[in-house]
Amino acid sequence: MAGGSRAAAGGTDAAAKAARRLAAVGVEFVALAVVDTAGVTLVKCVPLHRFEEAVRFGIGLSPVFTVFLVDDSITSSPHIGGPTGDTRLMPDPAATMPLAASPGWALAPVDQRDQEGEPYPGCARTFARSVLERLARFGLELRGAYEMEFFLGHRTWGAREAEPEPAHPGPAYGAIALVEVEPFATALIRTLEEQGTGVMQFHPEYSTGQLELSVPHGAGIAVADTNLVVRHTIRAVARSQGLAASFAPVVFPGLVGNGAHLHLSLWNRRGRNVFNGGRGPEGMTREAEAFTAGVLDALPALTAVTAPSVASYQRLQPHRWSGPWAVWGRENREAALRFVTGMVGSRPGAANLEVKSMDAAANPYLALGAIVAAGIDGLERELSLPEPVLDDPASIPATRRRALGIRQLPSSLSAAVRELERSRVVADAMGDVLFGAFLATRRGEVDAFEGKDPDTVVRAHRWRY
Ligand code: GLU
Ligand code: MG
Repeated sequence: MAGGSRAAAGGTDAAAKAARRLAAVGVEFVALAVVDTAGVTLVKCVPLHRFEEAVRFGIGLSPVFTVFLVDDSITSSPHIGGPTGDTRLMPDPAATMPLAASPGWALAPVDQRDQEGEPYPGCARTFARSVLERLARFGLELRGAYEMEFFLGHRTWGAREAEPEPAHPGPAYGAIALVEVEPFATALIRTLEEQGTGVMQFHPEYSTGQLELSVPHGAGIAVADTNLVVRHTIRAVARSQGLAASFAPVVFPGLVGNGAHLHLSLWNRRGRNVFNGGRGPEGMTREAEAFTAGVLDALPALTAVTAPSVASYQRLQPHRWSGPWAVWGRENREAALRFVTGMVGSRPGAANLEVKSMDAAANPYLALGAIVAAGIDGLERELSLPEPVLDDPASIPATRRRALGIRQLPSSLSAAVRELERSRVVADAMGDVLFGAFLATRRGEVDAFEGKDPDTVVRAHRWRY
């Protein structure tokens, strides 16, 4: 990776270009956004005239944020902890996007470096980029998008915070629900279209107050960058209407949760989607099959990354379409890996793999990097897929399930962390510093929340993501 001075010189042109592009659409301020290891998005803001300097020299952030927990308490890892040190938040100028719902503002995804200009080994975005670069060595480019479910409602806060009031009463997928949230839907879709994010689909989801938004697929790191923009836009549109959005895995104990499913496809050097047009299962090519098999193989360990909070396990349960089973299947909504072929005629573009065992407590960079690292492991080992599972695994008697090798994903964060500790694939990809911090923060949240009553857990996570 480029060192300090070359990176700075290269960044200067791109920064000036980005600053002109942003000024032309009325941007005055830039929020530099970094997602911490606990999945909480943090910002540091600069006026636009400081942006070019920020691209060259970064904005300071303590390394200790790498070991923050979801409740803002701080743990430590073998490499990180204590009040000293600095990381530099280096905005990515080309990825900096105006925020139409926040007039005057843009959001800049950042890479963290140290003060010598070297990559900071605890940086989630740098990790994801390095894994995507490894994928490029196979001649493959990842495209994808996070499909976001969220709760919209009226929030009060303070010492006697009441339960939020849902913005719609249902019914699931209902037209009545849409009418209730129509001003929000209008502003959200308009805003996303106007700022260039785009919208694929929007609908009222299953639970009261629950909505879902899909955006067009992006390439590489943009998959995670766009997710930051989407979350921020949803929050800002909600706020402008006196509402609040929650991406928490569960918003009310006992009800269906919010997923943040990753849809992904791989495109080869000839510009073809390898999830279609092959001789493998459901039309996958060998490459797509091996990648999918690698993800499937690592699913129990990946769960600590894709469902990383104690609250995640109130969602990741059978019969909620949250993908709690470590299986794959075409259009199986109980499977962690749902293979989506798309409609005949659209398949070369539409075929994709949906990772459903994921919620928005996950850091979108860590999840992307860990899932792709597992897929690369499958490519390297040339793995094959087992038979798909097309039934609801919960409906298969337990003895038969065992005979078929069907396992449920970990049902608690501590169990997921144990799986992660046993597996090499995420540890090797993250490296000691990031992996150590990841384990330390997950263990910290297990200690803080596991075993507490569901309502306490929900309240502690409801407005953090
Ligand atoms: N709400 C479900 C989840 O927790 C997903 C429902 C769906 O398949 O869209 O992931
Ligand atoms: Mg959904």
